[in-house]
Amino acid sequence: MPDGKRTGHKPHGGPDYTPDASGWVGAARRVPSPNFDERPAGMPVDLVVLHNISLPPGQFGSGNIEAFFQNRLDPDRHPFFATIHQVQVSAHFLVTREGELVQFVSCAQRAWHAGLSDFFGRARCNDFSIGIEIEGCDDLPFTPAQYDTVAGLVRALLQAYPIGAIAGHSDIAPGRKTDPGPHFDWDRFARLADVPPDLLPYRPSRD
Ligand SMILES: [Zn+2]
Repeated sequence: MPDGKRTGHKPHGGPDYTPDASGWVGAARRVPSPNFDERPAGMPVDLVVLHNISLPPGQFGSGNIEAFFQNRLDPDRHPFFATIHQVQVSAHFLVTREGELVQFVSCAQRAWHAGLSDFFGRARCNDFSIGIEIEGCDDLPFTPAQYDTVAGLVRALLQAYPIGAIAGHSDIAPGRKTDPGPHFDWDRFARLADVPPDLLPYRPSRD
């Protein structure tokens, strides 16, 4: 994407979510996850993947997501946890229901969020993407604070990395994943984040 597409952006209020040179966002609460490794050498970071997550599903604010990404989810706390507590996953970011930004993995590293995935013929999307989990589920609307934070973060990522597209997990793992789900308002997000329509390649097929 030419740089010119991203110049002249309007000033916005809210925190500055620009990552530093090592890929960490100073305005985020840092909760380091051990579930990451190196991106392939020379691989540009050119995709943002949006997800939703809640643990247990449909319940918010428990701290279980952070525990899950730090491999300390208690399998006795919920029957669902017993099925997933040994799975090692992460994302770069989580946006809580209150709009708080949490960072688990440096943007310079490969977080383990996409799994088996394909973006226009490019497999292993973790190699070249930044994963943002939005606390929520497929059955409930997201909060206004979450849209503000996701948009602010994506605006900053567009400035920092050669992002060529923003996709949902369901777009890169169709048939396997459904998040961020039908309640995620892509138009609202794109407007708030100043995302040009051509950076949302899957949008026309959502109708
Ligand atoms: Zn997902």
